[in-house]
Amino acid sequence: MENYVANEIIEPKNGIPFNMIQSKLNFGFIESMTCPICLNLVWNFVDCAKCGSLFCKYCINKSISEKRDACPMCELSPFKSSDNKTLIKLFSNVILKCPNSPYCKQLISYSEYLTHQEQCQFRKYHCINDGCGCSFHLNKTQAMKNHAKNCQYKLIKCKYCDKELKKIDYSKHINNECDKFKQCKICLKKMTKLEYETNHTEMNCLKYQLELYKKERKEYDKKIMKLQISFKEENDKIKKENADLTEKYQSLLNDNEQLKKDMMISVGDFQKLQKELLLCKKRNRDN
Ligand SMILES: [Zn+2]
Ligand SMILES: [Zn+2]
Ligand SMILES: [Zn+2]
Ligand SMILES: [Zn+2]
Ligand SMILES: [Zn+2]
Ligand SMILES: [Zn+2]
Repeated sequence: MENYVANEIIEPKNGIPFNMIQSKLNFGFIESMTCPICLNLVWNFVDCAKCGSLFCKYCINKSISEKRDACPMCELSPFKSSDNKTLIKLFSNVILKCPNSPYCKQLISYSEYLTHQEQCQFRKYHCINDGCGCSFHLNKTQAMKNHAKNCQYKLIKCKYCDKELKKIDYSKHINNECDKFKQCKICLKKMTKLEYETNHTEMNCLKYQLELYKKERKEYDKKIMKLQISFKEENDKIKKENADLTEKYQSLLNDNEQLKKDMMISVGDFQKLQKELLLCKKRNRDN
């Protein structure tokens, strides 16, 4: 995969933790293959010529250089290895988890511990761009492609001066360092200094801005006119509605006045009739 390099193969310098072992082993075997220094399954081991204890090469060398040149188990000094190659066969049948577990579910033998990693689908690859540090499992192809496209640490060329720089530094370069870049202060257009000085120029830009301004002004005037017309129409409509309402109100007032008058007349008539009735009654009694 372009833009990426495989991470270093994970080498268990000081032993493979026992929880990586998948085969069932008897206690004696486990005891014999445990490094007495790191207490893990021995890796790249040597055995003591006197007592036969196994140590990771890394662990025993560290012990020799930091403490003393002696077997930590039997005190034989200087430490001597028997270089017993037949032991390797014993170990080759031990089944382990891939160092990229739990992502990789494959089971591997002790002797495949390093070689499997080279083909492991979950081996990590890191971005080659200096300063980036992002890494991906090999099976994350899409994420890797996306990252390669957007990596802030990839080198790009300045559009104006051709200098190569990291994407992350681009705007800083343009704004502070690039000596070929020019941004017009009037229209904010970005261009090369040469383009600015020969074509764009402050004078041309101002002329152009003025034209633009005039055009815009015309557009605004048109819009204002339209607004004024519609405002007048609206106003006339409201006035007419208002007049209609006043008229209706007046006619209701008149109707009311008439009703009052009619009622007064009726009351007057009723009183007159009552009086006449009384008179009639009185006359009848007198007779
Ligand atoms: Zn020993
Ligand atoms: Zn060890
Ligand atoms: Zn694997
Ligand atoms: Zn990157
Ligand atoms: Zn530049
Ligand atoms: Zn301009």
